[in-house]
Amino acid sequence: MGLDSSQRETLLNEAQVEDFDLIIIGGGITGAGILREASLRGLSAILIEAEDFASGTSSKSTKLIHGGLRYLAMGHVHVVREAARERKRVHQLAPHLAEPRWLLLPAANRFELAKFVVGVTAYEKLGQVEKNDKHFNLSGEKLAEFEPLLDQKNFPHACVYREYLTDDARLVIANVRAGIQAGGKAINKLKVTGIYKEKDRVRGVEVECQLSGERFMVRGRGVINAAGPWVEQICALDDLPMPKSMVLSKGIHVVVPADKLPARQMTFAVTEDDRPLFIVPRGNTAYLGTTDTIHKGAEIWPEVTGAEVEYLFEPIQRYYGISLKRSDCLTSWAGLRPLIYQTGKSTKEISRKDEVWLSESGLVTIAGGKLTGYRKMAEDAVNKACEVIGFKFEPLDLNDPLPGGDIGTSLRQCALDLTQSFPMADEQAERLVKLYGAESHAVLSLGSQTLLPEGSVVSGEVSWAIEEEGAQNLEDVLYRRTRAALYSPAESLELVAPIAELMSARLGWSTDRRDQEIAQVNKLLAADLAFRA
Ligand code: FAD
Repeated sequence: MGLDSSQRETLLNEAQVEDFDLIIIGGGITGAGILREASLRGLSAILIEAEDFASGTSSKSTKLIHGGLRYLAMGHVHVVREAARERKRVHQLAPHLAEPRWLLLPAANRFELAKFVVGVTAYEKLGQVEKNDKHFNLSGEKLAEFEPLLDQKNFPHACVYREYLTDDARLVIANVRAGIQAGGKAINKLKVTGIYKEKDRVRGVEVECQLSGERFMVRGRGVINAAGPWVEQICALDDLPMPKSMVLSKGIHVVVPADKLPARQMTFAVTEDDRPLFIVPRGNTAYLGTTDTIHKGAEIWPEVTGAEVEYLFEPIQRYYGISLKRSDCLTSWAGLRPLIYQTGKSTKEISRKDEVWLSESGLVTIAGGKLTGYRKMAEDAVNKACEVIGFKFEPLDLNDPLPGGDIGTSLRQCALDLTQSFPMADEQAERLVKLYGAESHAVLSLGSQTLLPEGSVVSGEVSWAIEEEGAQNLEDVLYRRTRAALYSPAESLELVAPIAELMSARLGWSTDRRDQEIAQVNKLLAADLAFRA
């Protein structure tokens, strides 16, 4: 069985009777990567996610698969080396979810440019960057041609280097599906409420279905806590001390229409207090982020505030001479970085390195890290769990593409092929290929009609989300499958009704259920823009 939402009951029944090798708590990128890794190694594994896959921080990042150039300046060479290498692996596994993009580093003078070049050169060495992907410097007319929007009076030079742009939530879904294809199981809307032990050793988890309220036990020889910002809460269920504590750092992004900020290139700007700000043009929008402030507890998910938005706008004036207003924003999102506390360090100084901890009861916890390094994090966590349960495995080649990753020659060609089978505008084909890769054909064969007359989302995407990607709620489809709420925010309000109709028909919702789903999503869409008030 795959991630077919209509088969949920069967999946829940199976979870109650099977005794798994491994239970994974948390369906963000960390848990999804672990499910894939464990299942490919031959462990019988089940991933349990309280809300929706990627509903935590893994749908709310800056969406860069990157080595983190700024960490090099902080001396975190190991983190940068590993991340720079891992980004190549992600690109191999899912080229549609790791699009190579040039990143512009604007420099105020030649001295600053030289400083960037030294850093970027070291970064390229650590990451063994290919010749075609090496950096270059621009100034004068060439720079104006490359990024006409940049204010060259303030920034007459720039160093341009390679990074990769992903879609975090879809990377999570692709990993969950790869795990399932390798024999694993995954259930969303199922919350872990207790850790079950026998003779003081972890032997399973107690769960509660968030749709029906049903409670039951899932048995497993090993349990990995991959709950990101919630790892401390899961450790508390184990009733044993954690070796270190966590600190959560809030980061926000806002989305504006491309005609308000017509930047051509992804750009790394610096805020007034020396924080990195990424400007990322995507389709007919651009998003800006991020902030880095301490947040107390993940019980209350943070909201974007007006002051934070103004903070992101300030550099836009300096770099592009553009004054953005809150009313220009189409939407926003806020995420929480799960960082491992380091005494005396601010959140921006804390290392993004991940750690694997083992409690006396045998609970494996993976904490910290970044989206970019998820594959290596999964490897480390599964190694530890295999030690705990005494599972021996042969080293395997785990480089098979993720679902949709087998795109052939190039994304461009894949998009062109799509337009041959399904007549559509180039931008539309490009959008689909970036979301679904080689599976775009299969998605369109379920329905190629757009849901809105001039819109981008097609009916087949809704069916695909239900049949193949475990979408249970309207929010899952709008926010984390089609990504319309983030990348096509101008359409999202109008998309609510037609998506709800299709989901009602496929999942047999009552009128009441449909109305509740619509009300819930409308509330979320309004909350995303509450800072404009
Ligand atoms: P999450 O994605 O939060 O997943 C944890 C999951 O556990 C959640 O889905 C939650 O519902 C589930 N859960 C919690 N409690 C329970 C329970 N009791 N039972 C079952 N499930 C439970 N990294 C990069 O590499 N590149 C970037 O560009 C980047 N940008 C970032 C920008 C911001 C603003 C932030 C905040 C982070 C950024 N990161 C980036 C870091 C990266 O996003 C995170 O490290 C990563 O997404 C964390 O993934 P995770 O799976 O550990 O946590």
